[in-house]
Amino acid sequence: MTSQRTRMRMIERLRADGIADEVVLSVMSSIPRHVFIEEALASRAYEDVSLPINFGQTISSPWIVARMSELLRANSKLCNVLEIGTGCGYQTAVLAKLAEKVYSIERIGPLLTRTRIRLQNLQIKNIALKHADGLLGLAEVGPFDGIIMTAVTTHVPSSLLEQLVIGGRMVFPKGSQKQNLCIIERNVQGYTETVLEEVNFVPILSGIVKK
Ligand code: SAH
Repeated sequence: MTSQRTRMRMIERLRADGIADEVVLSVMSSIPRHVFIEEALASRAYEDVSLPINFGQTISSPWIVARMSELLRANSKLCNVLEIGTGCGYQTAVLAKLAEKVYSIERIGPLLTRTRIRLQNLQIKNIALKHADGLLGLAEVGPFDGIIMTAVTTHVPSSLLEQLVIGGRMVFPKGSQKQNLCIIERNVQGYTETVLEEVNFVPILSGIVKK
């Protein structure tokens, strides 16, 4: 259930379901998704579903991870990426193979502690994890050519958008009851927003959880 063959079937399904970026598909075929999920649920790791990861949070479905990654990458190598909502770290691991450096912020301390160990065990080196409120961004290491947020919000603070380079983009779910994937691109004139397909994410929350 957790073999390379099962993983390749997931990739075939993603391709059939419209994921077109072969670089993203190749990266996802190389990452063992089952190690990001509790043992009791690991046999379901390659199904196209989101699954619980403790602390009331969920790992996004493979399709969502693939879709957000291809939207963020927009067919070019990423340099400096900020992820808000590390969760179990699967999206972080995918991004680490698509970007030179990934900074990822998680507000739930104990969840981040486990994820840190998992990503260390996988020997992923070009990432930095931070326990903080991601809505504040990480201005000290920005600006970023990509920002990805894996929890839903109704509004993105302008102080976060200012951490995008000109030509950079942010990909995130937007809304409350009804949510859609959304891209905000920064250009010389300001920002443009594109609203895409309907999705379903846990909400972004402010402040941090220590224990
Ligand atoms: N990409 C993750 C998604 C986890 S769910 C995965 O596939 O595992 C969304 C995550 O965002 C949760 O872990 C939640 O704790 C975190 N989160 C919510 N609000 C946040 C905030 N303000 N700052 C940082 N992380 C936040």
